Amino acid sequence: MITALVHPIEKFVRSERLPHIWCSGCGMGMIFNAFAKAIEELNIDPKKVVIVSGIGCSGRASGYWAYDGFHTTHGRPIPFAMGLKLARPDLHVVVISGDGDLLAIGGNHFIHAARRNVDILVILVNNFNYGMTGGQVGPTTPEGVRTTTTPYGNYTEPPFNAVWLAAASGAVYVARWTVYHLRNLTESIKTAFQMKGFRVIEVISTCPTDFGRRNALPDPLDNLRYLKENAVYVKNPDPREADIVWGKKFIIGEFVKIEGKESFDDRIRRLIEIAQKELRRSDLQ
Ligand code: SF4
Repeated sequence: MITALVHPIEKFVRSERLPHIWCSGCGMGMIFNAFAKAIEELNIDPKKVVIVSGIGCSGRASGYWAYDGFHTTHGRPIPFAMGLKLARPDLHVVVISGDGDLLAIGGNHFIHAARRNVDILVILVNNFNYGMTGGQVGPTTPEGVRTTTTPYGNYTEPPFNAVWLAAASGAVYVARWTVYHLRNLTESIKTAFQMKGFRVIEVISTCPTDFGRRNALPDPLDNLRYLKENAVYVKNPDPREADIVWGKKFIIGEFVKIEGKESFDDRIRRLIEIAQKELRRSDLQ
């Protein structure tokens, strides 16, 4: 008897929206797969998981998630996620968005949510350029590489070290993996789900269509091979050493893991209690 083959993550995908917009060889499919696997392995009710995303190729993740999602305005997934988490503390609120969305137009939201320790997980998809809009230079584009707006090489815009930015701003969990390291990524998402506070996982992703073909990696496999050959796992690495220099080795691993730091949500609840006590006292006077 022939039985229909079902993809293991099919139940997590809004199949009526397929085919998806991601190009062949784009890292987004792999990240979505790792995310769904982590939910399944942790046995979390997917109805309690909300994906919030901004604008860009990665931003489409919220639309393909079969459960609740918000596809928000450019650079604003973090404030939407923050409001959602404050209103519904029972939900797992996850931002999945790109380097341009989160670190350029959304940069201020990123650092201030980290400073406040808002209880959300951010999966920062870093493909080194603005993929959806045609491959322009972005806040994580390494020096020297070519994009549509730096056709002779990026010699004007030094990139952010996103790991150090998150760590220095106050995130309680900061990790970096690549789409070649999917098992590590899945385990890291599982770890992050079980923690509380502002958690950031940077995923170095592939964009063969825009970034790869301008930088001698036209084939999706070339992109993966580059990540395999240059990513180096380090145990308890220093976030300050997480710079990415094109053509050189770069660090992956878990950079920050802090348990027990009071989250913004906890502080808000504490404030409400203080305010209620004050109000009761003033009523008695
Ligand atoms: S343009 Fe790049 S990031 Fe966007 S879907 Fe295509 S490969 Fe992925």
